[in-house]
Amino acid sequence: MNCYIKKFAFFILLALITFSCKEDQDNQILQNRAENRKALGISAEDLLSDDSYKSMTVEMVFSPAYRPTQQTLDGFTSFINSRVNKPDGVRFIETIISDQNGPFSISQIRNIENEQRTIYTQGDDIAVYVYFASGNANSDTNTTVTLGSAYQNTSIVIYEKTLQEVTNSVPDDLTRLEATTLYHEFGHIFGLVNIQNDDIHPGDKHEDLDHPKHCIIEDCLMYFEAQSITKDNLKLRMERLKVLQNIPSFDLDFCIEDLQAKGGN
Ligand SMILES: [Zn+2]
Ligand SMILES: [Zn+2]
Repeated sequence: MNCYIKKFAFFILLALITFSCKEDQDNQILQNRAENRKALGISAEDLLSDDSYKSMTVEMVFSPAYRPTQQTLDGFTSFINSRVNKPDGVRFIETIISDQNGPFSISQIRNIENEQRTIYTQGDDIAVYVYFASGNANSDTNTTVTLGSAYQNTSIVIYEKTLQEVTNSVPDDLTRLEATTLYHEFGHIFGLVNIQNDDIHPGDKHEDLDHPKHCIIEDCLMYFEAQSITKDNLKLRMERLKVLQNIPSFDLDFCIEDLQAKGGN
């Protein structure tokens, strides 16, 4: 009997220990994630400069049918490396998941991140998460589509299904639209344009006040049409991109100056 009680007490103790370990683990996970659960634009300097973080890890999450083109991924690597100041380098990780059921609200996109993101900022490595979604944005209408969204300090969604639909998956068109959308959303987590109201160019000089948080320069990557666009304008834009032959970049007068002011290149 005594032995039975002892055994019973032992199991209770074990359960308590296990339970408190689980709690510690959960707290630890929340703590690790807190750094990646901040407002858009807050981490611009941390991403661009080498002050707090010496390296960067970009985790790209997608299901097999929605992997961006190899050309897009290659271009993306050089885009990031030419903008950020990370002496210990930038790592690109691919995480393969199953198709998720769209269309998605931003809160569903956040839930998917909670479940699927595996890499968080740790030590002097800052982590960024990009989800290439297997569905459209639920805000799309018959005439307008959302191509991507930067919704937190280190979180981006690219509506890959939408990009495939509007380009009929023609490889060159798809690559151009993927790259433009991806770079544009990265521009937002880099703080462009005036996301945290700390733009070095005052008033309406840089920010397009008719389309807040975007650039007034029409050829710039941060021009408003790169994110959400009417289908008619998208056709025109695709034609313009074709003529340009390459992906738009940050304009040298304003956007690049802002990135440099935050420690980028
Ligand atoms: Zn935008
Ligand atoms: Zn610009």
